[in-house]
Amino acid sequence: MAGTSDIEWTDVTWNPVAGCSLASSGCTNCYAMRMAARLQAMGHHKYAGTTRKSGGRYVWTGRVNTDESSLSAPLEWRKPKRIFVNSMSDLFHPDVPDAFIRRVWETMIECPQHHFQILTKRPGRMAELFASGLIQAETHIWIGTSVESNEVADRVRHLAAIKKATLFISFEPLIGEIKDINLKGIHWAIVGGESGPRARPMEEAWVERLLEICRRDDVAFFFKQWGGRNKKAAGRELHGQTFDEYPLELEV
Ligand code: SF4
Repeated sequence: MAGTSDIEWTDVTWNPVAGCSLASSGCTNCYAMRMAARLQAMGHHKYAGTTRKSGGRYVWTGRVNTDESSLSAPLEWRKPKRIFVNSMSDLFHPDVPDAFIRRVWETMIECPQHHFQILTKRPGRMAELFASGLIQAETHIWIGTSVESNEVADRVRHLAAIKKATLFISFEPLIGEIKDINLKGIHWAIVGGESGPRARPMEEAWVERLLEICRRDDVAFFFKQWGGRNKKAAGRELHGQTFDEYPLELEV
């Protein structure tokens, strides 16, 4: 239902949904696709039918499975945790029903002891659901979107429309230079290079530029990794320093 996570900026992952489809070029080497294929092969019901083999690699089929049995998991964790919601999917994928998203939200509302971190590549749908009142801002629910290159920088606009929430951007995998972007009103930025056998390179100057923008716009900066084929060896220092900043809690 959930597992401790190697992801540097969270404690555990919680996956009430499994399966996805590619949203943009940042998805090309999606690690969740590879992991879902393994879990599907091991017979985990939740991942049934989510991946298939194509050209020597595993890809999403587009099938999205919701998992009712996962919904209550955070209620059972007494100790406060940072919880990454849906590391194996995208909560705002078009095939996740509104009613199921609402149930995920209800679980989160019932667990103010935790911090939930929602990261989507489909912030347009998320913003619509906020506007409709189906979901609402809560201090302990952090809302984020991914911006891997200039081509999808417009995603920030959807976030900026959400008021009274802790907002973050994941610039990972950073696969292109972002010369400028307005991050005013955003609280946290995570920056990282792609890892794995097909990792695309990230230039140091791209990271330095994002650090400048974060300092200018008063955004906490978290540098996750350089990435590459051997991400451990590449490490996560920038200018001999580790950047592990987090946003301040907001009052709603
Ligand atoms: S949106 Fe996330 S889970 Fe879905 S394909 Fe892209 S990277 Fe993978």
